[in-house]
Amino acid sequence: MAEKPFHDQKIVDLANHRVDAADGAFGASIKRGQEHTLAANEQVMDLLSHILVDESLPFYVTALDGTVLQVNDFYKKLDEALRDVSLAPGQVEHVGKYAVPSLKPVIEDVLASDTTVRSEEVVHINGRERVFLGRHSPIRNERKEIIAVAGTYEDVTVQVRGIEEANKTQARFQDFARASSDWFFECDDNMRIRSLSDRFTAIVGQPASLFVGSKFEQFGRLGENLDGRIDGPKAIQSRKPFREQLFIINEPNGSELKFHLSAVPVFDRTTGDFSGYRGVGMDVTSRYEQVEEARGIRENLESLLAELTRKNMALDIASEQATSALRAKNEFLAAMSHELRTPLNAIIGFAEAFEQQTFGKLDEAYIGYAKDIRKSGQHLLGLINDILDVAVIESGGLSLKIDDLSLDVLIEKAVHMNMEAARQKGLNIDALEVVTEAVVRADDRRLTQIMVNLLSNAVKFTKEGGSIGISLSEDSIKKQVDITVWDTGIGISASNLAHVFEKFHQVKDHIYSRSQEGTGLGLHISRELARKMGGDLTVVSVEGEGSRFTVTVPLADGVSVDDLDFI
Ligand code: ADP
Repeated sequence: MAEKPFHDQKIVDLANHRVDAADGAFGASIKRGQEHTLAANEQVMDLLSHILVDESLPFYVTALDGTVLQVNDFYKKLDEALRDVSLAPGQVEHVGKYAVPSLKPVIEDVLASDTTVRSEEVVHINGRERVFLGRHSPIRNERKEIIAVAGTYEDVTVQVRGIEEANKTQARFQDFARASSDWFFECDDNMRIRSLSDRFTAIVGQPASLFVGSKFEQFGRLGENLDGRIDGPKAIQSRKPFREQLFIINEPNGSELKFHLSAVPVFDRTTGDFSGYRGVGMDVTSRYEQVEEARGIRENLESLLAELTRKNMALDIASEQATSALRAKNEFLAAMSHELRTPLNAIIGFAEAFEQQTFGKLDEAYIGYAKDIRKSGQHLLGLINDILDVAVIESGGLSLKIDDLSLDVLIEKAVHMNMEAARQKGLNIDALEVVTEAVVRADDRRLTQIMVNLLSNAVKFTKEGGSIGISLSEDSIKKQVDITVWDTGIGISASNLAHVFEKFHQVKDHIYSRSQEGTGLGLHISRELARKMGGDLTVVSVEGEGSRFTVTVPLADGVSVDDLDFI
């Protein structure tokens, strides 16, 4: 047995207590009893004669000196069972205060206590344990003096086992309760708390006794669980089980403890009356916090998404507006350019005619004016052409006419257009002559435009006595040719070099360049055109030493025209 019985245990090997097995214990005891005063014995026998008839329980009467005066058959059987000679020593053990065969200590205890003495006798027979509840009562004469002791034994094995089992079950349940992170409660039929497990105390930090006798709503409140349900009150009303009823306790520091209460109703076994609820409380504080947090994050995300959608819409609208504004701008520019170019060409043409005195002799001063008109007109025309080009490129409306072109013819044309200016400036132009058989795939007009732009810049930004030239380098693997226009001019500072291809960029910090005319669009347009033709435009320059602008163009049998981005 795991637990001790109600009194100290003493293991007695009955084998050591045997008297004479052949005579039987009672024979021996009764022999000793002959020394007892006959008068007292008769008195006792008189008193007990009618009791002894009862055979439902083992029964004995003993004199105060230990002499067994009387036993009933049941007692004999019990005694004999314990003295079964067929059992080897050790097979029968008697654990208890009063070994059945030795009643002497009983008498001493009864005399000392002057009342009925109870004993629990545990008897192991063949390894099986039997528990007897012994009651040993004093028998008194008329003067209330104890003259004998009578006793009886009741087999309480079943009851004791039942209690032990119940204790074990309770201990097991308590272990579960202790190990569980949940807590348990019991309520009476009024839903007042009858008991709470220790775990509740641990979570709430207050003794459970504070809550016993109260109703749940006196120290907390019900709430909707994560499914949005409040099932508890309705279920309690109809005495039904409920699950996951949210119960919130406010802590002194303002934070909330959240529990899911689940419980079943309890009904009296015999009457069937409702007697309360038994249930479990699960701490779901952190689960709810996580859900809250997730909800917060989701709401945040949703509002961000809404904001993003709003911004996207605004952007769409802005981009649409910008696109239509750009379209309108480009349409306007195209129309204006056309409108301007026609009269401009007339102005330039007439100015040239005046300059050359085609319509008759003119005063020197007028010739000078006519020259100024022609130059301004040409500048304006260049500007208009550049702006129109940018507009067309940016609107995606640039159309190219790609052909196989003989490179030396194209270069000669471009050189020729700048020859006069270079000569006038006294530049060394020997290196402008190129001999090549290369055939490129390009738009004739646009590649010429690029070359003219690069050559005119070279002329513009190279001082008298300087040199300009063209060099070629074919890459048969990449199927392209590099056409480099170089000069020994003013060069470009590193800080400006990064910006020369930007729209309207002109180097303003150089006295020389400031004196030069231009729009700052030429290089931007040239690079865009080169890229549209499947090539590129790059620059290497050292301030004060000169510049090298290289335009890369696909060779005729290189990139297929179909691969090019003509848009
Ligand atoms: P612009 O019509 O003003 O010449 P470009 O786009 O052709 O416009 O050139 C932009 C700027 O780049 C020029 O204003 C000049 O400052 C610089 N630049 C262009 N080519 C040269 C060069 N060969 N040498 C020095 N600077 C140059």
